[in-house]
Amino acid sequence: MSGTMSEAAKQQVLIFDTTLRDGEQSPGCSMTTEEKLTMARALEAVGVDILEAGFAIASEGDFAAIDSIARTVRGPKIASLARARREDIEAAARSLEHADRARIHVFLASSDLHLEYKLRIGREQALHQTGEAVHHARTLADDVEFSPEDATRSDRDFLVEMVRVAVEAGATTINMPDTVGYTTPEEYGRLFREVRERIPAIDAQGVILSSHCHDDLGMAVANSLAAVQAGARQVECTINGIGERAGNAALEEIAANFFVRADYYHLHTGIHLKKLNAVSQTLREIISFGPSPNKAIVGANAFAHESGIHQHGMLANPLCYEIMTPESVGADSTHLVLGKHSGRAALRHRLETLGYALTAEELLDVYHRFVALADRKKNIYDQDLIGLLTTQHREQKSGNMAAVD
Ligand code: MN
Repeated sequence: MSGTMSEAAKQQVLIFDTTLRDGEQSPGCSMTTEEKLTMARALEAVGVDILEAGFAIASEGDFAAIDSIARTVRGPKIASLARARREDIEAAARSLEHADRARIHVFLASSDLHLEYKLRIGREQALHQTGEAVHHARTLADDVEFSPEDATRSDRDFLVEMVRVAVEAGATTINMPDTVGYTTPEEYGRLFREVRERIPAIDAQGVILSSHCHDDLGMAVANSLAAVQAGARQVECTINGIGERAGNAALEEIAANFFVRADYYHLHTGIHLKKLNAVSQTLREIISFGPSPNKAIVGANAFAHESGIHQHGMLANPLCYEIMTPESVGADSTHLVLGKHSGRAALRHRLETLGYALTAEELLDVYHRFVALADRKKNIYDQDLIGLLTTQHREQKSGNMAAVD
């Protein structure tokens, strides 16, 4: 990559999906090669730009999965992870041999904590290893990403030095991970601005800066967006936010932010929003758990409303309580859940959908019995509602039965 980026390119945020690497290495998420392939095809369909398929040297299974994805998935660029070691980089390159477009992703810790206790090397050796590794990777691939692991807990001057060495050795993307989910949006944004200012070659050579955030403090998405506002043009994320410990930034949330708040960010991604729900479902069927019901965008309750005031507003105009339609992210239509917090408007709406047109007086009568039932029962089903009607009501039933769901 050379020269400055075009205006159009500056407005696109690349989506780097690591569901099959960071996501897959977390508890309950391991996948077979066949499952990884199914997931890779779903990720291709949803429009990710870069697909991190695994850590080639980690196991034969990982290698085989990357190799088969590289042979068959053509949309996204395929990335393979490597430590800053010759054998790792060569294994990554081999796993990508059949890829249309390949990226070797090299990482080395930059924090003293990791260098001293985990790797038992000094700063000088870490810089040397960074230069050697990135240079070697560039002899095997045109596209090389470098990540100083634990960037957010690293000495700032040393981190800048390490990034400078990687850029000089030919890294085309620099990813600065918040490996342990420790940073804040303001602080993370400042890190990106500072690195860009202190290493002019980044902007001059069109090196892409990237975020990689973990959700240990529930800040992964907010931190990723802050990095983008400070100039990052790649976000690393996963479907349903799976990943080490509390997980990574959730892809669906990142994409929805740029879509719903296009007025604020003035940026876009290549993600096909209507396919988000399907890819989330595919992952849920493969691993051992789905997103929590209240999970943004893809949770079962993300477009459900129970309270009377909200249901009344939704029936009057969905914009009252929805900032995006469920259809826009491929979810089922809005659910007005009938429960103890529901009001007469929702009850009447549901009964009409079921084909029962009641007078105001009759409705009030049914409503009192409905509230008494809802106090005892968490979920009220259509059969329960019909059970609340008198024989006379049931006989009045109109012909409208179309919309029963
Ligand atoms: Mn990670």
